[in-house]
Amino acid sequence: MSDIPSQVQDIETLIKLQEAETEIVRLKSILEKFEKEKNKLGAKLKQFGTALDENKENFSKAAEVCRDLEREIQMIDDRIVKSNEKLRMVKTNKEYQLFLREVDDNKKRKDALETELIERLDEKEKIEGMAQESQKEFNLLEAQIESEQKEIEKKTIEDRELLDEYLERQAKIGKTLDPSLMNRFNRISKMNQGLAVVNVKNEVCMGCFMNIPPQLYIEVQRGKSLISCPQCSRILYHIKK
Ligand SMILES: [Zn+2]
Repeated sequence: MSDIPSQVQDIETLIKLQEAETEIVRLKSILEKFEKEKNKLGAKLKQFGTALDENKENFSKAAEVCRDLEREIQMIDDRIVKSNEKLRMVKTNKEYQLFLREVDDNKKRKDALETELIERLDEKEKIEGMAQESQKEFNLLEAQIESEQKEIEKKTIEDRELLDEYLERQAKIGKTLDPSLMNRFNRISKMNQGLAVVNVKNEVCMGCFMNIPPQLYIEVQRGKSLISCPQCSRILYHIKK
């Protein structure tokens, strides 16, 4: 029978393909874990950044309130100066009383605003302190997270290189397989977390750990055709020892 050697060859190729696939799944899972760790650190920094932005925003609002008050006080000061000038030029007592009251009202308003300004400046200072503190914390955290992320990068260099190697190997092996067999492998692998070709030991499938019928076991042992596990559909092989 001329097709026997090709089936034997197929199963050998499939075993090699499975070795590559297993490594690929393992490495991808490690790299994914590191990627998640990196992302988590990034999210933590972002959260801190948001808090920092809020503090900065609060400070600029407080500063604006102070500037507005200062501007208003300046305006009232100007008005007081003008009223005083008018006072010096009044001709009637009635006018005199009027401008005097104007000056008086403005002075009262100015006093009130100055009291408010003192409170607001105090508040602004506190907020500024908070913003500076939060900036310091952010800078520290940023440096720390950057170095942690770099550390993760360093740790994954070898794994990423290894993954590329196995992906290359997988592609090379894939080319030597019949496309329909390759599709079958990929389909089964997808259904079974990357494990498509498994050993059978003592009539037990090492993929799903279920017993396979004795007749099927004999066929697997012969290795003359590709047998699938009736439970999990994985392609079975048997190593003779
Ligand atoms: Zn099975």
